[in-house]
Amino acid sequence: MTQKSPERLVIIGSGPAAWTAAIYAARADLDPLVFEGEPSRNMIPGGQLMYTTDVENYPGFPEGIMGPEMMERFRDQACRFDTRIVGEDIASVDFSRKPFRLNPSYGAEFEAHAVVIATGARANWLGLPNEERLAQSGGGVSACAVCDGALPMFRNETLAVVGGGDSAMEEATYLTKFASEVILIHRRDEFRASKIMADRALANPKIRVLWNTEVTDVLGDDAVVGLEVRNNQTGETSEVACGGVFVAIGHTPNTAFLGDEVELTESGYIRTPTPWRTVTTVPGVFAAGDVMDSYYRQAITAAGTGCMAALEAERWLAEEGLSEVAEVPVDEKAEAPTGAEEDEPVEAAARG
Ligand code: NAP
Repeated sequence: MTQKSPERLVIIGSGPAAWTAAIYAARADLDPLVFEGEPSRNMIPGGQLMYTTDVENYPGFPEGIMGPEMMERFRDQACRFDTRIVGEDIASVDFSRKPFRLNPSYGAEFEAHAVVIATGARANWLGLPNEERLAQSGGGVSACAVCDGALPMFRNETLAVVGGGDSAMEEATYLTKFASEVILIHRRDEFRASKIMADRALANPKIRVLWNTEVTDVLGDDAVVGLEVRNNQTGETSEVACGGVFVAIGHTPNTAFLGDEVELTESGYIRTPTPWRTVTTVPGVFAAGDVMDSYYRQAITAAGTGCMAALEAERWLAEEGLSEVAEVPVDEKAEAPTGAEEDEPVEAAARG
């Protein structure tokens, strides 16, 4: 295979951060190449919004919008400005030399001058078959109270929150605005959460805690009607009636493919050391969205950091004198820069 010119900007990911970065970069004539990933057991292209039903808190959609449709629109908007897209993962990277080197999961290694990493994070799930089914069908299983808690289906219902960390405390407290009662289910007899957040939850008269309790099944055909739980001290099994369940047992950022090439935080998120900047510990490598944000984790904040990453990448490329990379001839541009050309042609059209 002939060595091609390095890509000017590669964006890895396909959630709101990645597509926003692509829209900004494409409109700035950076000719971005997006690796949107391939479906796997843990994640599908489009990220966590693909597992969400109604999105009611993204400005500009007063009637709300379904998560997957929203991602399709983001993607279409990136395609409108001729973003090139490859349906593959990046399996590994080498940021120790410039241009950077990237290895797709199937295609040949290639080079890039700048990279935006927007691979997101995935919510951890309990791993119960009915949990997955009802999460995907919008039947009342969610991993984000801020995203879904205000939906009509959860109003005045008894809701369950699983977990004992700060997220579980926050979600349980937040859900008391809508629920008639919140049952907090934790597998141990003490919370992992910070004292202040645990105390706030424990003091809330609408929150009841089930200690030493594990969820063994989610009950309901089309919608959640309850949980089967087991007390791990007594071994006793029982059913808890509820109209929704929020799983808050942590998130895993999608950073395994990065190895040690960029610095991560203790929890595995990409470190962006400068406040209000998306540059990582490697100049020329930028991070956006949930992969660098363990705090907000919202579509709107992910999109915001995607915009920031594209603007920073544009400025960095200009400073390095790399904005005007030699134009790739049009017929070569029609091919992916990887060994996947024949199976996965670069796409500049809507998904389909
Ligand atoms: P976390 O601190 O890792 O807590 C996860 C909780 O889920 C733990 O209580 C854990 O139980 C439980 N858990 C894990 N796997 C489980 C399973 N398979 N079945 C049942 N329970 C399970 O995660 P987090 O609460 O998402 O917080 C992540 C980070 O973000 C933390 O640093 C946190 O402080 C921070 N955060 C901060 C705020 C805030 O300050 N406003 C809000 C949210 C999150 P065990 O305790 O038994 O391990």
